[in-house]
Amino acid sequence: MPELPEVESVRRSLTRARLRSAVRSIWRSEHALRTGEHWQDEHLSLLRGATPQRWERRGKHLLWRLASKSNEPLGMLVHLGMTGRLEVARTGAPRALHTHVELRLHDDRVLRFVDARRFGGVRARPWEALLAEPPLCDLGPEPLGPGFDGACLYRVAGHSRRALRDVLLDQRVVAGVGNIYALEALFLARLHPLLPAQRLAASAWDRLAVAVRQVLEQGLRNGGTTLRDYRDADGNAGSNQQALWVYGRAGQPCRVCGAALQGFVLGGRGGVLCPVDQRRPRSRRVS
Ligand SMILES: [Zn+2]
Repeated sequence: MPELPEVESVRRSLTRARLRSAVRSIWRSEHALRTGEHWQDEHLSLLRGATPQRWERRGKHLLWRLASKSNEPLGMLVHLGMTGRLEVARTGAPRALHTHVELRLHDDRVLRFVDARRFGGVRARPWEALLAEPPLCDLGPEPLGPGFDGACLYRVAGHSRRALRDVLLDQRVVAGVGNIYALEALFLARLHPLLPAQRLAASAWDRLAVAVRQVLEQGLRNGGTTLRDYRDADGNAGSNQQALWVYGRAGQPCRVCGAALQGFVLGGRGGVLCPVDQRRPRSRRVS
């Protein structure tokens, strides 16, 4: 599933496409997307006649800001889910299989949302409403933003009994981190992924916050991690999968100490750790 670096890479590629012409028409396939709550009412017809302004990102969500014909700010929210992607093409270029939304612009270009497994979602709203409603209103801080640090993680998760890996996956704690970057950050911070969050001292939270930023920045520099389907709007894959420390490497040697990396499963989701670099500490307080 695309995480912050992948979604941000898509945002940058969409910005480069310089979509400026108003939306002329909207086509929607007959298949429902992302059946979860908040996503059934797509309201895509709101976008007819609207003029695109800019692409933003919040956590793993893309936001397209547009101005309506009467100059009201509108937004289109996109979640890529597991296999979703956005592509810009010429009008008339053949639609990829599994295209579910097509916005045709006046400059004879189209923006398409393609999603084979349909866990992604697209919806339109007045801009302020979009920001004030779930899922955006529930998101925690942006890890690459100015205010993110160990104190900020401690405030929301410092008393939690949950495992560190699951704390990092909680979008209310920090927005945009998923399983890949959570496991990578825990490795860099030399913290055991299954350690209860409440055992961390302030210094360990600081180390973890720094590690989260480092792995996300590296992912971004590499254009994202491509496991299967991820592509940016230009169709480019990322290369960060070659730089991963632990994710997807169970049984292979640790790049730091050479020990065989171990897989684990928690809450139905797999993970990987180094038994040497991420040893479970005996002391109650982990610094
Ligand atoms: Zn190791």
